[in-house]
Amino acid sequence: MSCLFCRIVNGEVPSKKIFEDESMVAFHDVNPQAPVHVLVVPRTHIATLNDLTPEDSALIGEMTRRAAAIAKELGVDARGYRTVFNCNSEAGQTVFHIHLHLLGGRPMHWPPG
Ligand code: AMP
Ligand code: ZN
Repeated sequence: MSCLFCRIVNGEVPSKKIFEDESMVAFHDVNPQAPVHVLVVPRTHIATLNDLTPEDSALIGEMTRRAAAIAKELGVDARGYRTVFNCNSEAGQTVFHIHLHLLGGRPMHWPPG
């Protein structure tokens, strides 16, 4: 299997996991862009947001709620945090298995770069 995040989900590639259940895995980003930088990744392989179907709606909702729960666990919920899905090249997507970035622990700028 060539997809990096499928391999992380399966445990073939190590990661610093902080949460997993039957539908998703969350782990610390290997190249953090903020003091808190966690990726929430579905177990199922979906390449980009453009590939979502109506059947994925509950999954996306669960991923978003999990990011909020992790933000609370890591103590950035009150200060604030950012959640991001990058889609395709102009957004900077480099791993083509959807993932929700959770970034926090420093002020975030708007608009993003
Ligand atoms: P994106 O650019 O939105 O596709 O995000 C991919 C993210 O995956 C980047 O923030 C990378 O730092 C991160 N990443 C790449 N390889 C690994 C890995 N082996 N473990 C954890 N995070 C990774
Ligand atoms: Zn995958």
